[in-house]
Amino acid sequence: MIYFDNAATTYPKPSAVNRAVNNALLLYGANPGRAGHSMSMRTAEEIYRTRSEVADFFGAAGPECVVFTPNCTASLNYVMKGILKPGDHVVTSNLEHNAVMRPLEKLAEKGITYTAVEVTPGDNDKTVDSFRKALKPNTALVVCTHVSNVWGIRLPVERIAALAHQYGIPLCLDAAQSAGVFPIKMGESCDYLCVASHKGLYAPMGTGILVTCMEKNLDTLIEGGTGTNSVSLQQPDTLPDRFESGTVNVPGICGIHAGIRFVKTRGISRILEHETLLMQRLYRRIRQSPKIHLYTPEPDGNALGPVVSFNVEGMDSEDVGAFLAKQGVAVRAGLHCAPCAHKTMGTLESGAVRCCPSVFTTENQIAGFVSALRKIL
Ligand code: PLP
Repeated sequence: MIYFDNAATTYPKPSAVNRAVNNALLLYGANPGRAGHSMSMRTAEEIYRTRSEVADFFGAAGPECVVFTPNCTASLNYVMKGILKPGDHVVTSNLEHNAVMRPLEKLAEKGITYTAVEVTPGDNDKTVDSFRKALKPNTALVVCTHVSNVWGIRLPVERIAALAHQYGIPLCLDAAQSAGVFPIKMGESCDYLCVASHKGLYAPMGTGILVTCMEKNLDTLIEGGTGTNSVSLQQPDTLPDRFESGTVNVPGICGIHAGIRFVKTRGISRILEHETLLMQRLYRRIRQSPKIHLYTPEPDGNALGPVVSFNVEGMDSEDVGAFLAKQGVAVRAGLHCAPCAHKTMGTLESGAVRCCPSVFTTENQIAGFVSALRKIL
């Protein structure tokens, strides 16, 4: 199979991740932090080492700022629902995934309003200005995607964070598509970082991360056992326990550890360069056909991340996806859980076909993709 659905989750995973998950089942099989026996302690230590690795990777103040969650959606929900109160206002963008939009719509039922500002690709001044104009005295949060999962458009989050900070407003970053591909630094890029570790960090599915040291502003959504201070009936105030009730996904967390080490060893700039080069090749080859509609300039590894979405004239995107699947090429067609991003580009009716590479994608796979597409054309 030629796998171009890496924006949904990366596949394959590095063999070090496969091994780490397997080893976790063998070596770290006891519930961490719940008992004093050696396997429980060993497991807790490995989880702590993973927290340290994540904290170091994103420049967090310490390992305790790293909370393991089931996915990026959960991390975003923890932040938005934990921080926002009736009467608050939120600024977001017009490129958001439903992982941001649906919680915002749900919060609207409680009297929380939001403004989705227009992102102007290629003009960061204009984009930042749109964010500035949308701020109100009751704006309590800015939440936005780092890189659009459909169009690859990268938002100038450092500038947006600096703007929000001028007014004492925190920024929550949806880094589902960027973590492991573009640099992210806590504080400079955001105050709440939501990560889909199963994508660019090459961890198993069912893993996500929330990084923050601003837990005091966040109410909890889930309360329960943490293995600490069991005598108290109150949820702990301290991180990471405050947001990690119940048994954590130990094999997944061990996979995060191995995945981050893999990404660090390869280097995110080299990963980005590799993926961008391949997407440029793909873009240039498919653009030659007058029947292919492309919606953005070619990926440049800066303003545009390594994602190419397109349509074939006269064909439904889902049909193109189904045809490619029959040829052994895995893409994602349709609306990519991001109707707002499609509305922005005028593709809400048609959807689009999305190709996204990973560190493992090869030139041969690009050639295989192009020849499968030619059969359709
Ligand atoms: N945000 C964006 C931009 C995404 O692309 C995705 C997943 O595709 C998500 C959030 C949700 O991530 P997860 O599936 O880990 O919850």
